[in-house]
Amino acid sequence: ALPPVDDPFASLNPAQRLAVEHDIGAAASRPLLVVAGAGSGKTNTLAHRVARLIMAGADPQRILLLTFSRRAANEMTQRAGNVLQRIMGGSAGGVATLPWAGTFHSIGARLLREFSGRIGLDESFTIHDRGDSEDLMGLVRHEIGLTQTAKRFPLKGTCLSIYSRVVNSREPLDLVLQSTFPWCCEWEAELKRLFGAYVDAKQEQNVLDYDDLLLFWAEMASDPELGPEIGSLFDHVLVDEYQDTNRLQAAIITGMKPGGEGVMVVGDDAQSIYSFRGATVRNILDFPGQFSQPAQVITLDRNYRSTQPILDASNAVIAAALERHAKTLWTDKVASSLPQLVLIPDEAEQARWVCNRILEHREAGIKLTTQAVLFRAASHSAALELELMRRNIPFVKFGGLKFLEASHIKDVLAVLRFAQNPNGRMAGFRVLQLIPGIGPATATRLLDAMAAAPEALDAVEAFTPPSKSQGDWQDFVTLYRRLRTPGLRWPADIELVRDWYLPHLERLHDDATVRAADVAQLAQLAGGHGTRESFLAEITLDPPEATSDRAGPPLLDEDYLILSTIHSSKGQEWKSVHVLNVVDGCIPSDMSTGSAEEIEEERRLLYVAMTRAREHLHLVVPNRFFIKQQSQMGDRHVYAARTRFVTPAMLKHFEECVWITADTAKSNKPMPDSVRMLVRDRARSAWK
Ligand code: ATP
Ligand code: MG
Repeated sequence: ALPPVDDPFASLNPAQRLAVEHDIGAAASRPLLVVAGAGSGKTNTLAHRVARLIMAGADPQRILLLTFSRRAANEMTQRAGNVLQRIMGGSAGGVATLPWAGTFHSIGARLLREFSGRIGLDESFTIHDRGDSEDLMGLVRHEIGLTQTAKRFPLKGTCLSIYSRVVNSREPLDLVLQSTFPWCCEWEAELKRLFGAYVDAKQEQNVLDYDDLLLFWAEMASDPELGPEIGSLFDHVLVDEYQDTNRLQAAIITGMKPGGEGVMVVGDDAQSIYSFRGATVRNILDFPGQFSQPAQVITLDRNYRSTQPILDASNAVIAAALERHAKTLWTDKVASSLPQLVLIPDEAEQARWVCNRILEHREAGIKLTTQAVLFRAASHSAALELELMRRNIPFVKFGGLKFLEASHIKDVLAVLRFAQNPNGRMAGFRVLQLIPGIGPATATRLLDAMAAAPEALDAVEAFTPPSKSQGDWQDFVTLYRRLRTPGLRWPADIELVRDWYLPHLERLHDDATVRAADVAQLAQLAGGHGTRESFLAEITLDPPEATSDRAGPPLLDEDYLILSTIHSSKGQEWKSVHVLNVVDGCIPSDMSTGSAEEIEEERRLLYVAMTRAREHLHLVVPNRFFIKQQSQMGDRHVYAARTRFVTPAMLKHFEECVWITADTAKSNKPMPDSVRMLVRDRARSAWK
């Protein structure tokens, strides 16, 4: 072996090192919990731990690494790889590919596919995304006669949320209704009937929804025979962001590893922001006593991310929480400037101001990719996006309109799903109605025939379409036959689908060119996957975040700004962070002013946003902002005030600035150099 190049572990502080070295060399390591504040190096410690385990002889194939997103899994694998590289030099090539790194849902999908035969699941199952699940819930509701009548039965989206909450929290329906959906209590009996029928429908159609991926995994894990078998696939189970896991996820861990051997989780109770999806900080609190042996607990209190003034302001916000989080972080990153609290007339001004600051930062050498703009809801960045486009500032938006929500992407994926699983009616319904002349009634007739036939393809070939559909129908049959024929090589399939779909796209949409580019992007993504199943599972569980009808993903080598919802910014960091609409009504959101707990979750959300910043933090407070309302009042502008989470007593932690109006701004303030540069560049590039 080569001599060690340098020691990457030397940079760890004693507490981090303790976590990394925990029970190394022991036959099996005891369960370990690292609970610590933002930026204290939890994720970094986890990555070093993975590297340390591999150094000590652990098999990377037997390490299960569960993260919040695929992006986070990739980053962590990369970090662990770098550590190994530094220790072992060139010989580390490929050591740190971790085949079992991913989100709970994507790992669940893989395990279910592998074990399908053992649990009576047809292995050609397809996965419904949230939209499909809502539609199926709506359809079932209609079929059993619970349509939204005068009695105002809950909407399909609400029904799905209730169902999902019951599954993920492992609480009975009546409790969930009382605690979270009190206005739906009167429907308990009907909801029970609905959910029963919904579960039957999924089973008949051989589809799983997101919750099933966790539920079935948890069931397997608690099975006396299968549980130990699945547990024995992994020597180490590591989980990041544990504060945002739910009961079902905790049950998966304890089911697989009742003794907690090799289990390590890290999290921060002050950053718990997913309780609206059933996540619970109780998982962290309960962790130490959850296994047949007690867990070790390590805390970290040194922050490596932010400057002291940013930390002071963030600490102040979280210290005022009703439930105290007994942690105060410190850092040695001194800075002279305080975080800014910027008062601005309205959202249009906010967009201009933020653009100016971003360009100024860029002038000062802070690349766009190390800057982010965060907001409470995806729709809050609309004005800013326009301004960015106007000024030609490239950006990528996370957590907004998802690739999958575009109807043309849904169409193409539906064709692939329908080929993989002919019983999936949501996909079938969608695909068949793309064919001119085929409506819901005809589609239903065909789907029924397919479900009754031993081989779905036979039913398709025997079907007589309406006479006006003849030509289009034959094209579809040809496509379907080829897709159902085993042995066709992936990703050639998707090219066939694309060729078939493009004429329909042109017929259906005026902006077909833009949409065709998305379809091309999808086909390109498909190339990265070995099989149709793995592609469909991944794309459904962790879709790319933007479509080209937005600004579109810039080229990889281009410098671009990050726009993100606060929820999607979890775990990340940027040199400069702007937070938009830091006003009551946005943070806390006026949709969540229901209970004290919900308000507290909004406080933690602000804390998460603030602790993303390394050097510059700007909280922007527009005096007026636009809200979309579902009530009779319609969309309107409202006057707003600084968020209640920044109390007068906390103002000493901020530099307050007041921005007057666009006109005074224009006359008083010189255009920043960067803007001038941009204008000039554009003028010049027109001639190149
Ligand atoms: P969050 O709660 O936001 O997820 P975290 O606790 O996971 O934060 P990391 O993202 O792991 O924190 O680390 C924050 C920053 O501190 C990163 O830039 C990381 O590289 C750096 N860092 C962590 N530990 C050390 C260390 N011992 N020495 C120097 N830098 C460190
Ligand atoms: Mg982290």
